[in-house]
Amino acid sequence: MKLLFLGPPGAGKGTQAVRIAGRLNIPHIATGNMLREAVAAGTELGLVAKEVMARGDLVSDDLVIAMLEERIEQPDAERGFILDGFPRTIAQGEALAERMGDSALDGAVYIGVEDDEIVRRISGRRTCPNQHVYHVDDNPPEVFGVCDIDNETLVQREDDAEDVVRNRLRVYREQTEPLVEFYTSRGLRIHPVNGLGDLDEVEAAIVATLDI
Ligand code: AMP
Repeated sequence: MKLLFLGPPGAGKGTQAVRIAGRLNIPHIATGNMLREAVAAGTELGLVAKEVMARGDLVSDDLVIAMLEERIEQPDAERGFILDGFPRTIAQGEALAERMGDSALDGAVYIGVEDDEIVRRISGRRTCPNQHVYHVDDNPPEVFGVCDIDNETLVQREDDAEDVVRNRLRVYREQTEPLVEFYTSRGLRIHPVNGLGDLDEVEAAIVATLDI
């Protein structure tokens, strides 16, 4: 199965994409995670991406498309994948369609959440260096400030600061939201899911709408 997860930052795309990818036993491909890894590793791509990400702007289409294309050519992506955070622009959607063909995707899950709730969620989000994600109230770790999986210290992402979040929301509305129309007009089935509710409820709604 080849799926896209769409929706604003903080909607729960990453958390739910990990769960659904686990159920389907397919890779979860998150361009934000890949870019953060590049920044941490200090690669050429990471050096370019670092400041753009810290401002909440988008890394250039060329760079992200090249990175994504290389990733989906890996053998583990042959059976399917969940794309999380890609495409983020119409140009990225067009590049993906050109690479895979219009009918290669099975559907898109759109997780909707209001702006006030997004700001609440993002301000409580904490992550470990290996990209495991928590929320101080909604999904706390067992030990305060420590990742359950690898015992690493949890921190707040630099781009989760409130002023940056507001820019990310603006960028989302301007550049990413038009993809809903883009895919609708190309006949891709979009599955809208209400992102409010606890993690298990949202997961159950996704499982039901995808019929998996
Ligand atoms: P995310 O983890 O999906 O919230 O992404 C974090 C940041 O990485 C974004 O604010 C962008 O700066 C960058 N980024 C992630 N995915 C993309 C993409 N597909 N195109 C451009 N920039 C991206």
